[in-house]
Amino acid sequence: MPHPISLIILVALFIDVLVHTLADFLNLRVLRHELPPALKDIYDKEHYRKSQDYLWFNTRFEWISSGFNLLIFLLFWFGKGFPFLDQWVHSFHQGPVVTGILFIGVLAALKALLSLPFKVYGMFVIEERFGFNRTTWRVFLLDLVKGTFLGIALGAPLVAGMLAFFQYAGGSAWFYCWVAVTLFMLGVTYVAPTWIMPLFNKFIPLDPGELRSAILSYARSIHFPVENIYVMDGSKRSGKSNAFFTGFGKHRRIVLFDTLIEQHSVPELVAVLAHEMGHYKRKHILKTMILGILQTGILLFLFSIFVSYQGLFDAFFMSQKSVYGGLVFFAILYSPLDVVMGLFLKAWSRRNEREADRFAVETTKDPKPLISALKILSAHNLSNLVPHPFYVFLHYSHPPLLERITALDRLQEKGAFP
Ligand SMILES: [Zn+2]
Repeated sequence: MPHPISLIILVALFIDVLVHTLADFLNLRVLRHELPPALKDIYDKEHYRKSQDYLWFNTRFEWISSGFNLLIFLLFWFGKGFPFLDQWVHSFHQGPVVTGILFIGVLAALKALLSLPFKVYGMFVIEERFGFNRTTWRVFLLDLVKGTFLGIALGAPLVAGMLAFFQYAGGSAWFYCWVAVTLFMLGVTYVAPTWIMPLFNKFIPLDPGELRSAILSYARSIHFPVENIYVMDGSKRSGKSNAFFTGFGKHRRIVLFDTLIEQHSVPELVAVLAHEMGHYKRKHILKTMILGILQTGILLFLFSIFVSYQGLFDAFFMSQKSVYGGLVFFAILYSPLDVVMGLFLKAWSRRNEREADRFAVETTKDPKPLISALKILSAHNLSNLVPHPFYVFLHYSHPPLLERITALDRLQEKGAFP
């Protein structure tokens, strides 16, 4: 009979697989359907067929990769991989923090190694087949090396700090840790646009011209100070396009993918940025940050309760308690709850997206450019235009296209615009 904690984790994993597979099957039913009339102008027959193929390929790929990951995890767990690894890291006779970094480092490296073939397949087979991939092997390998170094440079001090707090700081460790982790995260977010992101992409200030003037004049009209508009070479990796804001304070910048500029007219680009600025104006970015900080605090507090709980170590066949072991096992135990948390966050995000859409059309006083931009984006990215509502509930951070267009049309019907 497995340990009760093991049983809880296994049941949670089983439910998770069941729910996600069910959602996938419901979502795939659209493969048999015709497009609704409002979306007929987005795809021609051939293009629509291609988007359905894309959905089917990705769903099947997701099944194979997550099935494989689950199998490896169960084999490692019940093959007593955790105590074996623990013994090995102890053989170096280091202090608890260094031993812990080794333990967590090896697990992270194994995870990265196992996911690598899937990453390669996803990029060089699936994305390639559908014409999205523009990553060369050289870029891929450089990304891998840079990403690994960055992961170690940022991850090791963070993990070391957490282990040290919980090892030596007593009952209030979670609180000190919370403050430290929050400062660390804010620091990384602050320097990311200038120190980290340029490691991977080129950012060139947008040339003066029609687009730049249009963006600046819109920004002025909503009293949104913008100094930095950058174009990013997104085409280096993928044909898919995007726009985003990054950093805060002095380092805040608007970033447009070069691929986005290629595909859209000036009013459409302004509409897309108006949506992004809407996120700022409606304080979504700030609220998301605060929510993240609160979540970290709750997690660390829960962790402080579980870290010394013998049952957690028994479930993973560990004879010796340790902070680093507690950290890993707590993360595993918590992950089903994380899925549930994620559902709330995604619902909240969809609400914010609707609000940013509304902000964009209310301030540009014309829903047409945003509607056409959304349509072009969806068509270009081969989006599934009619996802199943249950699938949306589980996975979507943005409302589906039809829902967004309908909402924008309704605003116009209400007579909000001349
Ligand atoms: Zn948005």
